[in-house]
Amino acid sequence: MFAAPAQRNGARRGADVLNRLRERPPALWYRGERVADVTTHAAFRGGVASLAGLYDLQWQRAGDCLFDSPTSGRKIARSFLLPSTAAELASISRAMAIVARHTHGMMGRVPDYLNRALSAYAAAAPYLAAADPRFGANAVRLHEELREADLSLTHSLIPPQANRSVGPAGQADPFLAARIKEETDAGFVVRGCRMLATLPISDALMVLPSTLLKATAEDAPYAFGFVIPNDTPGLKFICRESLDYGRSRFDHPLGSRFEEMDAVVVFDDVHVPWENVLLYRDVERCNQANARTGAVVGMAHQVVVKNIAKTEFVLGLAALLVDTIGAEGFQHVQEKLAELWVALETMRGLLRAAEADATADEWGVVRPAWNPLDAARNLYPRLYPRMIEIVQQLGASGLVAMPTEQDLKGPLADDIRRYYQAARADAFERIPLFKLAWDVALSAFAGRQVLYERFFFGDPVRMAGALVAAHDAEIRGYADRVRELVRELRDEAFTAQK
Ligand SMILES: Cc1cc2nc3c(=O)[nH]c(=O)nc-3n(C[C@H](O)[C@H](O)[C@H](O)COP(=O)(O)OP(=O)(O)OC[C@H]3O[C@@H](n4cnc5c(N)ncnc54)[C@H](O)[C@@H]3O)c2cc1C
Repeated sequence: MFAAPAQRNGARRGADVLNRLRERPPALWYRGERVADVTTHAAFRGGVASLAGLYDLQWQRAGDCLFDSPTSGRKIARSFLLPSTAAELASISRAMAIVARHTHGMMGRVPDYLNRALSAYAAAAPYLAAADPRFGANAVRLHEELREADLSLTHSLIPPQANRSVGPAGQADPFLAARIKEETDAGFVVRGCRMLATLPISDALMVLPSTLLKATAEDAPYAFGFVIPNDTPGLKFICRESLDYGRSRFDHPLGSRFEEMDAVVVFDDVHVPWENVLLYRDVERCNQANARTGAVVGMAHQVVVKNIAKTEFVLGLAALLVDTIGAEGFQHVQEKLAELWVALETMRGLLRAAEADATADEWGVVRPAWNPLDAARNLYPRLYPRMIEIVQQLGASGLVAMPTEQDLKGPLADDIRRYYQAARADAFERIPLFKLAWDVALSAFAGRQVLYERFFFGDPVRMAGALVAAHDAEIRGYADRVRELVRELRDEAFTAQK
């Protein structure tokens, strides 16, 4: 069980989040040890505090971020809403934008992301129930339970990166990729591994089929979907090294606050009760689930909202950098600012198109239009690395000419005041600005952000392949028009010659 009925009190505040993580710590492993308390552990506490802060924020902006539960009447997070009108969809978008701006888009995996996925699965209960009536009922019940307890989710979609030339069933070890080991009356046992769970500092794990890796019939033991608590026996999250080095907010303005963490998930004979199962052994249904339920649309919607906030932040940062050092008059600098602005307007335009063309899906939920969101999710993995390259090109050596907070408070303070001044800022204002730019463009935190934007929604190469396949008829239609023109030109030329 995720939360006892007495704990299902609707939208949480930050203190509730911290209490829950202390009482039911997720099974995190860090540098060879099980993490006892993520709220105080140096590698996690900064990110955990920011996560908790988002739950306080939803109460500070309750009018936008919360709505009345259809079952309990309590205030609950808006990202759990199943919108039945365009206005309700827009209200979700506004609430997600408040959260995204708060983190400058630098915490990609805020709970909104998977709240949208779980909501879509609940709405599409008939699709799951067609395989087994229990699975549809489970989706509705799980959605309600997590919504009323306002719990946060992480998720894992893909098999470990061992041999990508074959699928999960073709690996040397059949239990490398998480696989059904045995079925029991109460559920089934999973053994093996899944990549890669961002935000393991959360309450529950959603194990879904990948949106891109299409399983084959022999992959049936690897085909499932379920939700379990992050303290389930046998579950282990092996965390990468933290990007929060325990330094001050001044020195590491982003890494000290927005470390959401990524982890490989190990299932050491994890028992999954039938009550938690959404999909089971049904390869065809698993392959279609994220699209048919609308989960991928809900997640992409949150992503585009987040990317707009992130692009606004990078544009603002770049503009302030060049203004501070008096570089705003150079043409190539203006060209680069223009490039960032165009990226922002492109993402805004795609979001607007998606929401303007929203329609009710087969489950009665109003979904943003998919094509603009698909275009946005294929574009941003290319835009973001370029945006960061621009910050490097504009910041140049200023990004590394960077004393620490201690230097500013030490005996060299007068030297620093003198030599770190800028055209439009004294040293004590210039330095935090450039530190922010360093954490956006150069630090380990920055590098992970670039990797995240390149890959977190899937391999961009295979996403592009899927896009071309999905729009094959449309693209062929344009090719046919050009072919007509080419033939016209050929015929004209031959006719003229005759
Ligand atoms: C920071 C970060 C956070 C993430 N968070 C999550 C998360 O929370 N949950 C989750 O489930 N996943 C998460 N992911 C994983 C993400 O889904 C994968 O990175 C993505 O699907 C690509 O898979 P892969 O990383 O295994 O790359 P691979 O599939 O191993 O690809 C490696 C290289 O081989 C190429 N390649 C491999 N197979 C093919 C093929 N069939 N055709 C063409 N080229 C191929 C790829 O193009 C790439 O260049 C995260 C990833 C990152 C980097």
